[in-house]
Amino acid sequence: MAEFDGRSLYITGGASGIGRAVVDSFLKEGAYVTILDRSKDGLAAIKEQYGEQVICIEGDVTHFEDHEKAVYQAVETFGRLDVFIANAGVFDGFAKFENVTAEAMNDAYELLMNINVKGYFNGAKASLHELKKTKGNIIFTVSGAGFYPDGGGVWYTASKHAQIGLMRQLAFELAPDVRVNAVSPGGTLTSLNVITPLRPFVKEIDNDTKAKSIKTRNPLRIAMNADDHVGPYLLLASSKSRAITGEAISSDGGLAIRGLS
Ligand code: NAD
Repeated sequence: MAEFDGRSLYITGGASGIGRAVVDSFLKEGAYVTILDRSKDGLAAIKEQYGEQVICIEGDVTHFEDHEKAVYQAVETFGRLDVFIANAGVFDGFAKFENVTAEAMNDAYELLMNINVKGYFNGAKASLHELKKTKGNIIFTVSGAGFYPDGGGVWYTASKHAQIGLMRQLAFELAPDVRVNAVSPGGTLTSLNVITPLRPFVKEIDNDTKAKSIKTRNPLRIAMNADDHVGPYLLLASSKSRAITGEAISSDGGLAIRGLS
């Protein structure tokens, strides 16, 4: 896709997992990439590998000014902004409504909704004026949990539904200047499923068990990894999809059509 040569992409959560795979794929297509992430080590590794083709900003998606800084630096350095991908997200694991105290649920609400919903809003808001100049694109990383109950907890499902609502509203409001779409990955082997103090409810599962469970659940029987999802991002960012807006493409091995089986 030579059309990405010299184009400029801004992505949140690009230092690991699905975001990192997307970063690699756009850089291979000749794009410049600006990343906002809170992982210092992940950002340092990308900077070392790609040098001046990338700008790495350590920050927090819940802070609007961090997005403003990223957009400013992208335009200052690369001269334009063509695509914004809202991707940084957290998972509340298995915080079942009935089993968790109201206090713990309230804390999880603050964490999940701030990062997963306000973080997406902030990035779109800070990028908009530049995207309008290039007739650019916004792409959200959502999830099957944005459409149906999932293995995650209530706030993950609620936040992913909210992301899809926000994506559709923006698609409606920003047409005809900017297209807004989403990619909906199915369960994927990334660090999202590893326990940390920020993900108190995640059950730690080793990678082999997780891969087996992912493979067994989806009809295509794929143990999906981050690289399996890059195609839809490239498609949605390209002029080949110029008639698509307000849409979420599932990249989930057929999970969405599994029904109740
Ligand atoms: P990941 O943990 O590997 O990557 C998430 C990245 O976001 C990390 O680099 C992390 O440092 C960054 N991040 C988190 N909170 C941040 C904050 N407040 N500010 C800045 N950066 C922050 O996980 P992943 O699986 O690649 O997740 C990426 C997206 O994919 C998320 O939106 C997630 O909900 C979605 N998703 C993942 C799966 C899956 O099974 N892994 C399935 C469907 C959707």
